[in-house]
Amino acid sequence: MLSDLRSWAATLGFSQIGVADVDLTSAEPGLLAWLDNGFHGSMAYMAAHGLKRARPAELVPGSVRVITARMDYLPRDTPEGWQAVEWRGLHDPARANVSIYARGRDYHKVLRQRLQQLADRLAEAVGPFGHRVFTDSAPLLEVELAARSGIGWRGKHTLALDREAGSMFFLGEICVDLALPLTPPVQPHCGSCSACIDVCPTQAIVDAYRLDARRCISYLTIEHDGPIPVGLRAPIGNRIYGCDDCQLVCPWNKYARKSTLPDFDVRADPGHASLLQLWAWSEADFLRLTEGSAIRRIGFVRWQRNLAVALGNALRGEACEAPGDAVSEGTGQHMRHALSARRDAAGALVREHIDWALER
Ligand code: SF4
Ligand code: SF4
Repeated sequence: MLSDLRSWAATLGFSQIGVADVDLTSAEPGLLAWLDNGFHGSMAYMAAHGLKRARPAELVPGSVRVITARMDYLPRDTPEGWQAVEWRGLHDPARANVSIYARGRDYHKVLRQRLQQLADRLAEAVGPFGHRVFTDSAPLLEVELAARSGIGWRGKHTLALDREAGSMFFLGEICVDLALPLTPPVQPHCGSCSACIDVCPTQAIVDAYRLDARRCISYLTIEHDGPIPVGLRAPIGNRIYGCDDCQLVCPWNKYARKSTLPDFDVRADPGHASLLQLWAWSEADFLRLTEGSAIRRIGFVRWQRNLAVALGNALRGEACEAPGDAVSEGTGQHMRHALSARRDAAGALVREHIDWALER
C-alpha cells in the first residue's frame, strides 16, 4: 500500500510520503511550554487549539494515522548558487524581498487540492475511508508529525529538514482512519552547527529548537496585525513578506530541490520589484496583482506597513551590510516623497510606520 501511495503522490508533485501515529503525547509538554512562554505572540488560534494540535484523533475523530507529505517548492528556474543570489537581494535596500515560497501560486491551494486527489486515489483502491486534509501548520503539529514519520528531522530553526532535500519544502497532512504501516523517523544531522541561530536577524531562535515567533520576521510581516515593535524594525531590512535567512544559511539546503510544478514559478509581481514600485500600488492593484498568491492573505494594510518599514530601512541604510549598498540620494528623495504623499490618507497603523520611516 505504501509503495502505491508513494507512486500516486509522486505523480501529484509530492516528493516524499510518510505515515505517523496519532499519539503525540510526548510532544505535549513542549507545546505547552511554548504557549506558556507566549512565543506564539498574537496567533490566538495556536492557543485556542491547545493540546488538540498534539492530538489528531481529537481534531479528526476516528483518526489512527496521519499521512505526511513533502512538496519541494524552489521554482523550476532556480539557478545554481541560488543562496548567493538571495543574499545579494537582501543587500539591495531598494529592492523588495519576498520569501521564496510565496513568489508563486498560493501553496495552500496547490497542496490542498493535491492532498485531496491523493486521498481520492487511495479511496479508489481501498474504498471510502474517514479523512481530512491539512495544508497549514495551525491546527496540527506538522513538523513533529513530519519528523516522526521520516520526512526529515526537526532542525534547530524548528523547521523540518532532510539530508537529500534541505528544508525548502511544504508539508501537508491527511488524518486517516486507516491503520497504515508507520514509517520510521530519520536521524537528526544538525550536529554542532548553529548557523541558523547565529544568522537570525532578530535573534528569534532563542535556543536550539526554540523559536520565539514574536521576534520572527515571518510572523511579524505575515501573521502579526498590529504595529511592528520599533526595536525589531531595523533588522527586518528589505524583507516585506517572510524571511528565509535561517534556511539560506543551512548547509543542507545545497541539496534543496526544485519543484516539478509550474505553480511555484516566480510571478513578475511582486517577485522582482522595487520597494517604490510596490509602494505605488493602490489597494485595487494589490488585490489584482496578488490574486492567487499567499501574499494576498495579509491584506493591504499589513502590506503597506511592511513596505513602510522596508523603505525606512532603505533610507537609514539599515539594509546595508557593505558600504555602497546604500540607496542613492536621488532614490532616497523619491522614497521620502512617496512616503509623505501617502501619509495623510493612510490609516493610523500605516501612518505611524510612515512617520518612523521618515524620521532621520
Ligand atoms: S525566519 Fe528569519 S527571523 Fe524567523 S527565525 Fe528564521 S532567520 Fe529568524
Ligand atoms: S543551519 Fe545548522 S543547526 Fe540550523 S537547521 Fe541547518 S544544520 Fe541544523
